[in-house]
Amino acid sequence: MWGDKRYHTLNYELRKQFGKKVMKLSLDGGFTCPNRDGTIGCRGCIFCGEEGAGEFTGSRNLSIKEQIEEQKRLLSNKWNTDKYIAYFQNFTNTYSSIEDLKKKYYEALSQDGVVGLAIATRPDCLSKDVLELLANINQKTYLWVELGLQTIHERTSNFIRRGYPLKIYNKAIQELKDKNIKIVTHLIFGLPGESREDILNSVRYVADTNTWGVKFHLLYIQKGTDLYEYYIKNPFPILSREEYISLVVDGLEMLPEEMVIHRLTGDGKKNLLYKPKWSLDKLRVLSGIDKELKRRNSCQGSRYQTKNDIK
Ligand code: SF4
Repeated sequence: MWGDKRYHTLNYELRKQFGKKVMKLSLDGGFTCPNRDGTIGCRGCIFCGEEGAGEFTGSRNLSIKEQIEEQKRLLSNKWNTDKYIAYFQNFTNTYSSIEDLKKKYYEALSQDGVVGLAIATRPDCLSKDVLELLANINQKTYLWVELGLQTIHERTSNFIRRGYPLKIYNKAIQELKDKNIKIVTHLIFGLPGESREDILNSVRYVADTNTWGVKFHLLYIQKGTDLYEYYIKNPFPILSREEYISLVVDGLEMLPEEMVIHRLTGDGKKNLLYKPKWSLDKLRVLSGIDKELKRRNSCQGSRYQTKNDIK
């Protein structure tokens, strides 16, 4: 058990590390993405909207310092803390010149109360120089890097236009691990054409790579995306709340106990969400996950098998 949860939450992990509640400040570093600017693709991943990820990300018209101040102000109504992780969330946050990256990362780190950095990126955007910069930062502060894998299945990754093969993810995690940098892997549940077994095979794969953390997302159909256009013409099955909860609980049981769970519901934009509407009630999803773990009398790791166990 981790506090009052049957899975190893980020909240638990950060409290253990810093002795109190730590909040993430979601920033927009003003970056783009090689999958949108024509380098790899022009239209991005099929589910990616024009504004990128996250409902609560700061505005790219503001400086990093201004975004941090604004986010702290917003959070202060709800949480009493003075420790923060600056989270570069929107688009590909290692996709710029080293000078620009360095300037923005260190600007974030120099703000009052910022005790660490989280950087979301693609595994094909970790050049030698970027890895060097991250390794330097990792020696000075608490750092993790998030990679959007979404699925291990090539058929699906082609459909969603992810733009890199699985071996690039494997190479990236090896290079980050060699530098002792913590990695968080994102997976999406409910991608078209994937069975329950396909989804859980992606979870098993991530469990075996033993990255530091994981984020499970539900597939959203968001207006203004190519996925929305596709869905209107070719409707495909959308997970129900019960199916999603059951998949998440199966997934948690398969992960090692040490793996930190960063997210089990999405943070899409409410006004753009087309389906599934049930996802708006995040508390109901989270309490459903707690209830299902309790009903099964299980917890994270209860069905984790290392490769050696399987042999
Ligand atoms: S890698 Fe991320 S930012 Fe780039 S297109 Fe895909 S979802 Fe959008």
